[in-house]
Amino acid sequence: MTSSVLESGTASERWLAVDRARMWEKAEIVGVDRRAAATRLRLRLAEAPEVLAGQYYLIRLAVDAPPGVVEQAYSLCSSPPGPEVEIAVRDVPDGRASRVLARQVEVGDLLQVRGPYGFLTWTEADGGPVGLVGAGTGVAPLAAIVRYAAARRLEVPMTLLCSSRDRTTALLGDELEELDRRLPWFRLVRTYTRSTQDRSARYRRRIDADMLAEVFEASEDALRPITYYVAGPGDMVITTRAMLGSLGVADDAIYSEDHA
Ligand SMILES: Cc1cc2nc3c(=O)[nH]c(=O)nc-3n(C[C@H](O)[C@H](O)[C@H](O)COP(=O)(O)OP(=O)(O)OC[C@H]3O[C@@H](n4cnc5c(N)ncnc54)[C@H](O)[C@@H]3O)c2cc1C
Repeated sequence: MTSSVLESGTASERWLAVDRARMWEKAEIVGVDRRAAATRLRLRLAEAPEVLAGQYYLIRLAVDAPPGVVEQAYSLCSSPPGPEVEIAVRDVPDGRASRVLARQVEVGDLLQVRGPYGFLTWTEADGGPVGLVGAGTGVAPLAAIVRYAAARRLEVPMTLLCSSRDRTTALLGDELEELDRRLPWFRLVRTYTRSTQDRSARYRRRIDADMLAEVFEASEDALRPITYYVAGPGDMVITTRAMLGSLGVADDAIYSEDHA
């Protein structure tokens, strides 16, 4: 399927950088939803991509800062794939790409994109139960995995341990809560690292080994994960992998992605 705006040439090209080698695909922004935790952008590609739940795209933008162009990775949080995909962009103070994507782009703008990339992927062939551990923007690929399973009614047990500073900064918080209420096979467990009072989270501290043991390894056998997917800031990924290892989880049962 081809976008009518991409064909008609009425979309804004203000963020496009020179692409002599024609390595970048154009995507049109067809939805912008600015929220506290992250700006949600819906992008329409010329064709539905062959993408696995958990993968990311590179986005390239013309910016004022030298060298005039910046390329960053953004996980698709939507699933299943059609020609429209969704990303959630957190506004990083003084960030070159995130500032533009979170605050400045509008419906009708064209972006240069390339992908999909990444190995933090899950399909029904991988089986379950599945343990998902996410912090910050690392929640986005994990949400895509849960949404993929939900869209296909796969009913594979999945538990997502989600770390954020507080309720307002929890990426995709409303959607995940809705999935938690609706899907008997999905369990959302929250921890808030900067909110000591809010009882909407089960924990109010950083992820630690006791928490991982309680959430995942103390489960009855039918719910204990056979694989773990860990995504977030680099230090969180390293320590979570080590803590899971100390609980007896084999290294090759842990897939991870660093959202540095
Ligand atoms: C696989 C993967 C998936 C990702 N998925 C997502 C996602 O779904 N959503 C999301 O929001 N993010 C995601 N990210 C992060 C994203 O790719 C960007 O890193 C993030 O948006 C920041 O990019 P930026 O260009 O705005 O920041 P940058 O301009 O690179 O700046 C980042 C920080 O560094 C500082 N800085 C920049 N240049 C300098 C300098 N020269 N000296 C000192 N400090 C400097 C800035 O002030 C800022 O605080 C993902 C990353 C990876 C690797």
